[in-house]
Amino acid sequence: MKAVRIHQFGGPEVLIYEDTSDPQLRKDQVLVRVKACSLNHLDLWVRKGLPGVKLPHILGSDVAGEVADIGEYVTGLKAGQRVLVAPMHFCGHCVKCVAGLQNQCREFTVLGNAVDGGNCELIAVPRANVIPFPDSLGFNQAASVPVVFVTAWHMLVGVVGVRPGQTVLVLGANSGVGIAAIQIAKLFHCRVITTAGSDAKLEKARALGADYVIDHYKQKISEEVRRITNKEGVDIVVEHVGAATWDESLRCLKTAGTLVTCGATTGSSVAVDLRHLFARQLRLLGSYMGTMAELHEVLGHVLAGRLKPVVDRSFPLKELRAAHEYLEKSQMFGKVMVDV
Ligand SMILES: [Zn+2]
Repeated sequence: MKAVRIHQFGGPEVLIYEDTSDPQLRKDQVLVRVKACSLNHLDLWVRKGLPGVKLPHILGSDVAGEVADIGEYVTGLKAGQRVLVAPMHFCGHCVKCVAGLQNQCREFTVLGNAVDGGNCELIAVPRANVIPFPDSLGFNQAASVPVVFVTAWHMLVGVVGVRPGQTVLVLGANSGVGIAAIQIAKLFHCRVITTAGSDAKLEKARALGADYVIDHYKQKISEEVRRITNKEGVDIVVEHVGAATWDESLRCLKTAGTLVTCGATTGSSVAVDLRHLFARQLRLLGSYMGTMAELHEVLGHVLAGRLKPVVDRSFPLKELRAAHEYLEKSQMFGKVMVDV
């Protein structure tokens, strides 16, 4: 099959479009013919080098495609069926997995991180990871859902327990997690404040349901949040930007407010003033992906039209380098895709 593989860590130039052997289908697995795969910031981190990644390696976490073949032990699927591949990789039998907390499994990783991903023509995955979806959802739309919507859902619903009427600050409205978090917060009837770096992006954020938008190049986020909330601050900050916004994010919280983070796009070393942490009774929480049940729940909302995946543009698989360069410039609004 054709695949884009990395043989060393580095810039976009390490992405090589080449022939490689088809994956071996185990008896308990499903072979999926990849139709679309969306990019995530995780792809950039893995390409630059993360521990636990064996080379050569295939990137790509979010896969939609068709069933190409099924293993002898697999039931309930047939060749040609349109399916979404759940990006969670887990053991399936530990106490966390059987409790439905797959993202706490000791073997947990995301497709394309410590295991090969979907920037290729064929991928073999366990039956539990294969979720059929109807024709009403396109392959690009389907492949835009898993990582960002599950991550945002787990942050707001699973970890924080968002309640109707709360005020939520979502950083980076144009990012995949930002787009998902705005819509999920609105689904819970929250008041949503978001940030972006251009008028066009801010307009699109409003169209997604954001009540207030802040241009982070022209305005100081904490000052605007103070003005919008009548000096009170927000209940929840959805963080994934990291070093560049961390101090501002903390300033935006109300007393006993919660910051939840799932990423560090601009850098991972930040400072916390412990006096502020305890005196303002802040809650700083970490979140990593989400559970299989959360993916099924999110997909239900997508199919019902209550949550909308946003596709920015797609590149052919052999132009994955250009797709990485485009994502790195942060000029997108929505998901950057590869068509296979
Ligand atoms: Zn497990």
